[in-house]
Amino acid sequence: MNAPAPGVYIGRFAPSPTGPLHAGSLVAALASWLDARAHGGRWLVRIEDVDTPRCVPGADQVILGQLAALGLVADEPPVYQSQRGPLYQAALGALVARNLAYPCACTRADIAQANAALGLLKPRHGELVYPGTCRPENGGLRGRAPRAWRLRVPHGSTARWDWHDRRLGAQTQALDSTVGDFVIRRADGLWAYQLAVVVDDAEQHITHVVRGEDLADNTPRQQWLQQCLGVPTPSYLHTPLVVDAHGEKLSKQHGAPAVQASRALSELRRAGQSLGIEVAADSVEGWLKSATLYRFPD
Ligand code: GLU
Repeated sequence: MNAPAPGVYIGRFAPSPTGPLHAGSLVAALASWLDARAHGGRWLVRIEDVDTPRCVPGADQVILGQLAALGLVADEPPVYQSQRGPLYQAALGALVARNLAYPCACTRADIAQANAALGLLKPRHGELVYPGTCRPENGGLRGRAPRAWRLRVPHGSTARWDWHDRRLGAQTQALDSTVGDFVIRRADGLWAYQLAVVVDDAEQHITHVVRGEDLADNTPRQQWLQQCLGVPTPSYLHTPLVVDAHGEKLSKQHGAPAVQASRALSELRRAGQSLGIEVAADSVEGWLKSATLYRFPD
């Protein structure tokens, strides 16, 4: 895709087709659409179907239909990550050529064991931190078969990643002690979310990422990957999560109800409330037009 003129806004909504949109994913879709419109920008939809075992056939069409019923129509036909393998392969090749990525033979059990040996316990909801066992300077594969590919993260004094979120403000994450060298190509041969999302945001010239707060802690990994690939870093805004009556994040896994296309206006009103947007309107078009006057922080 050709680079846009300077100052042009390009935003995106990037659903995984693992089920229909629910009230939580609609908040992210609506916020990214509104922010693009408020900036006179373009808005793209990208179907993130790299994790094929989790994808539900037909869910992409259901999501696109729900978005259309709510007046959220992309400015270009959607792209599908499942068709973009060569772009991800080229990025992996570039990272390997720069000695930024390396093959890893470790299983989860190996990583858990290595963590235990270091006295590190798995955080309750967190991922296992990769201790660098297969880094070439630590001995590499040692004759074991390669499984995944990992990206090196900075260690020591450069590991602290500071970044800015338009809603949450100043954020920081220690890449070495909370993440470690992370997977960019999975042991099952599938492309990891982190690599696909960064390659696509760059290739589509996304200038503004607006998405749910559950993804915020991926941002340092993605910004580091952008630096490794020499591509620009967009600005980031993470939207509030929608929780159910028990305070749990709404999710497809926990059976959150699908957004009802037949109740488009009330679905928009409810999503708007999560974003602090209350407008009086009696049609979808009217609601969207008024809501576009709302400004998210810069
Ligand atoms: N596909 C991801 C999801 O549905 C969103 C990725 C992103 O917006 O960066 O959770």
